[in-house]
Amino acid sequence: MKVNYKRYFFYLCRWQLSTPLLAGVLIWLSTYDKWTATIIANLIGGLIFFWVDRFIFRTNFLSAQWEVKENIKCSDCGKTTRGYRLTKTSNYDKSEDKTPKFRCEECSEKKTKFLREQGIKV
Ligand SMILES: [Zn+2]
Repeated sequence: MKVNYKRYFFYLCRWQLSTPLLAGVLIWLSTYDKWTATIIANLIGGLIFFWVDRFIFRTNFLSAQWEVKENIKCSDCGKTTRGYRLTKTSNYDKSEDKTPKFRCEECSEKKTKFLREQGIKV
């Protein structure tokens, strides 16, 4: 599995956010026995962080955006097939490109490798 390290970093930060919340709830419930307090604290944490985690794992903000189109002519090899085009990453933006170039899967992988060598975060 390919790990998106930016997403992973946000996820680890999210865990740090849960620390003061759970500590606060445990202090608030300090008169309860430890098991009951922990169960309630985790329930409250789950109710909140389910939505935060869902956002972290679903948002396109943290990943590269691709455009996929059927029956294109690959701009590198000329083959007519499904085409791919990188439109946007954190340091690359071709979303307003007037003459977008699509590539077949094989040529797209070569181009992606080339962009990575140029420092583009794909
Ligand atoms: Zn091609």
